[in-house]
Amino acid sequence: MRRWNGWGDDSDIFALTDDARAFVRERVGDGVPSTDATREQALKTVPESRVKSPLFVTDAATRLDRSRGQSFPDWIAMRSGRMGPYADGVAFPTTHDEAAVALAEAKKIGAIVIPYGGGTSVVGHLNVPAGDQPVVNISLERMNKLLKLDETSMLATIGAGTPGPQVEALLKPHGYLLGHFPQSYEYSTLGGWVVTRSSGQQSYRYGRIENMFAAGRLVTPRGELDVGGMPASSAGQDLREAVMGSEGRFGLLTEATVRVRRLPEREDFHGVFFPSWEIGLDAVRTMVQSDVPLSMLRLSNEIETETQLALVAGHKTALTWLNRYLRLRGIGQGACMLMIGVTGSEIECNHSRHRALDIAASFKGAHVGRFMGKAWAKNRFRGPYLRNALWEAGYAADTVETAINWNKVTPLMRAIEQTARDVLGKENEKVHAFTHLSHVYRQGCSIYSTFVFRSTGNFEGDYERWRKLKSRLCETMVEHGGTISHQHGVGVDHAPYMPAEKGALGMDLIRAMAREFDPQAMMNPGKLFV
Ligand SMILES: Cc1cc2nc3c(=O)[nH]c(=O)nc-3n(C[C@H](O)[C@H](O)[C@H](O)COP(=O)(O)OP(=O)(O)OC[C@H]3O[C@@H](n4cnc5c(N)ncnc54)[C@H](O)[C@@H]3O)c2cc1C
Repeated sequence: MRRWNGWGDDSDIFALTDDARAFVRERVGDGVPSTDATREQALKTVPESRVKSPLFVTDAATRLDRSRGQSFPDWIAMRSGRMGPYADGVAFPTTHDEAAVALAEAKKIGAIVIPYGGGTSVVGHLNVPAGDQPVVNISLERMNKLLKLDETSMLATIGAGTPGPQVEALLKPHGYLLGHFPQSYEYSTLGGWVVTRSSGQQSYRYGRIENMFAAGRLVTPRGELDVGGMPASSAGQDLREAVMGSEGRFGLLTEATVRVRRLPEREDFHGVFFPSWEIGLDAVRTMVQSDVPLSMLRLSNEIETETQLALVAGHKTALTWLNRYLRLRGIGQGACMLMIGVTGSEIECNHSRHRALDIAASFKGAHVGRFMGKAWAKNRFRGPYLRNALWEAGYAADTVETAINWNKVTPLMRAIEQTARDVLGKENEKVHAFTHLSHVYRQGCSIYSTFVFRSTGNFEGDYERWRKLKSRLCETMVEHGGTISHQHGVGVDHAPYMPAEKGALGMDLIRAMAREFDPQAMMNPGKLFV
């Protein structure tokens, strides 16, 4: 069963080994575990629903399970059992028409609507506003079917509430795949990806969701908007752009038509180690700018490399051999690991692997074969499970992410990590911060940093530590010219930083669009813009 107050299925426990515990303890100190609320305690805090319509399910468990996402404040709310306001009910439409009826009903009863996909938002997209107005979730989770497959045009129309594994399971028997693999793949949904502009681990081959989203149906408080459908068009503005990034403020995306690919013949992941971050970064940029057709380039900095090997890779004998081999190749302290994804036909894979490894070798990269790649692929969606184990050991963890042009990547990455250390350093607390880049473009790349710090033992204290870290880290990203989000979207947590990126006129335009779709301001207020 899915954990109600953490990440993942509760039968899947990614435990910290003794060595991993010692590693974390050495870096930030002894963990200070908190006492979590039980589900029963949390259920008792769900008030009576203010909604009487039969379209909305109002029992406490249904409302509890959809009242929060996975942001740090969400995490604190769930662990403390102080969830904040709850939605008054949840509708579960199974078709586009039923979704339209649910939205019309919400409008009739004067309710605020929060569309709910897979509940994996990490920026407060799903927060329920306090106030006298009733609030309902419209959950798309039962809209999970393959509605149409046009094999000639390689387009699939799929219910917007379909989670990642099911999207691929629907396509696979026909010989196709979508190829969108965010780390939240197990639970996040096609509709959620589109409206938050998500990016998957193999975006280098398959593109971001923007590149896959061909057409969609949006139910808005003012009626239906159908967008896209043509292979390309110069007929004015592309209205798919109004849907992508709309974060539930403009309407409900009920169906999405996506561009699919044939299943690849082959896929391998290769590990390469570089003597330093700067050298590894130059190698990655060279591969991208030489158009080597790979499916993934994921470069960990020296701290993340060390952390991954300690926390995830595990196997001691293999690590001893790896370190010996790297030393022989002149790679020691400061080593950075690059994971290269090679996907396609046999011929394509051979060609792109050779080109990538030739470039790596010209930058002193040591290829360690596929064993690290196999370990990475096996655990590719399991990293977030560590957050449960860290929390239970008395440590908090969160991430920030951005994207920036190549010439500014290293200064921004260093500034993010240093800022995290400085913020809690003022309280004599240590932060273990580490980074990778994993979405690469000719112009630049994403930067994804994780920070681990000790819990305070009380929820208010943890929230306060996180708040200081998050706000300074967001400011640092903006000051350096990075986007406030490469892939997680805006929600509540990033909304204050939007004007710096979009400008005053840009913000007016976004607000005007929201007013046009939703004159009563009933759709997911407080998210995307304030
Ligand atoms: C452990 C973890 C790892 C993650 N890794 C990645 C990653 O690698 N890449 C990445 O891009 N993101 C990642 N995320 C963030 C998150 O998974 C994405 O933002 C995802 O796109 C959210 O999809 P969802 O279906 O869970 O949407 P939800 O969290 O349910 O909703 C997010 C927002 O979209 C709106 N919404 C959802 N569905 C619809 C719909 N059909 N119509 C209208 N509005 C809708 C909601 O109202 C809300 O505002 C990660 C999150 C976690 C917890």
